[in-house]
Amino acid sequence: MIKAPRGTSDILPAASSQWQELEGRLRKLCTAYGYGELRTPIFEATELFARGVGEGTDIVDKEMYTFTDRGGRSLTLRPEGTAPVVRAFLEHKLNQSLPARFFYLGPMFRYERPQAGRMRQFHQFGIELFGAPGPLADVEVIELAWTAYRELGISDLEIKLNSLGCEECRAAYRQELKRRLAPRLSELCGHCQGRYERNPLRILDCKSPQCQGALTELPELSTYLCPECKEHFQQVKEGLSALGIPAVEDPQLVRGFDYYTRTVFEIVAEGLGAQDAVGGGGRYNNLVQDLGGPSVPAVGFAAGIERILLVLEKYGIKLKEEEKPFIYLAPLGKEALLYLFKTGTQLRRQGIPVYLPLEEKSLKAQMKAADRCGASWTLIVGEEELKSGQALLKNMVLGSQQQIQTAKIVEAIAELYREEGSRK
Ligand code: AMP
Repeated sequence: MIKAPRGTSDILPAASSQWQELEGRLRKLCTAYGYGELRTPIFEATELFARGVGEGTDIVDKEMYTFTDRGGRSLTLRPEGTAPVVRAFLEHKLNQSLPARFFYLGPMFRYERPQAGRMRQFHQFGIELFGAPGPLADVEVIELAWTAYRELGISDLEIKLNSLGCEECRAAYRQELKRRLAPRLSELCGHCQGRYERNPLRILDCKSPQCQGALTELPELSTYLCPECKEHFQQVKEGLSALGIPAVEDPQLVRGFDYYTRTVFEIVAEGLGAQDAVGGGGRYNNLVQDLGGPSVPAVGFAAGIERILLVLEKYGIKLKEEEKPFIYLAPLGKEALLYLFKTGTQLRRQGIPVYLPLEEKSLKAQMKAADRCGASWTLIVGEEELKSGQALLKNMVLGSQQQIQTAKIVEAIAELYREEGSRK
């Protein structure tokens, strides 16, 4: 039997309603904050990520799904959403009116080792805010992220916050880092030995125990921040505190992308185990320019949908009950089957969820199926009822029954449906 590829999963109808509700709520929240949905292709030119995310990052070096198409182009299934949004921002000249706000929702692909909460195809919700250099933009993005989780009912969260400074602060730090790591170069993992010249800051993000051992007693990047970066960071912290959003400074927080400047943050949820980051983001002041555009500072955030759903499951939070049919149509006999098939189709065309049998079955079997599918009502029509013009309508919750005229059956059921809707 052919199975879904390792690290991917099917979302079955029972789970789909949770996904839809979650996506719907995120869309609504973004709209309230003035963010418009931007849908980019699932694959992009490989160069976009090599330049955008950065060579020397784990994503570009080890995790991309890259292939050559039949025209000889190197394409990559998007591993993240920011670089594609920046590409679209430039391609469509969306920098005419700034600040500009966008959000996205969709699948991302990374060749990682699958485990609970870590997949090769996963889904992200993300926002990007362009053209706002001030610290309040960082606060807006972190606040939106925070509110998104809180509104879903997730409260046990921690925000980790750090500043990576600008190119200038980093140049001095990079030098110091190389000086300190030089005598311990042989202790680093093979990958990081390669990074030492190319991208030494990435070494701080290495998860291998070998490197972790060599990374002790290094100076913190925060002590190298220039006065402007220090002031920006201070104001971000003050803005968050003014809104009552708790954030904990974490000088070790680097994150896996090269494009970040100044603020970076990660949001972790209690009780998720090793993969406890439910979202993260930061400021990227140079990426638009690095990808060939004008200088447009930006800040963004991305959340893992699967991880949010895992937390909700842990909390026992159901965003939405599974859709059930409103009415089960139970025909007895061939003539009634066709009659109810027609009735059911008319109801479905009005948007009323109907369970419609496709074959003749015994009354007992049909009543059992009606119970199982959770319909609120069952309509029974046999040869007798067709002759008398009176069908039997059963309330599945109360167990009561009533007669209903077959001539007005569609109108009567539609009216019941509207009544139930207004009670909800
Ligand atoms: P990143 O794009 O790496 O900053 O990740 C943002 C968020 O996406 C993380 O905090 C996770 O919630 C989620 N995420 C990242 N990688 C994966 C993965 N392989 N599987 C599931 N979720 C992921």
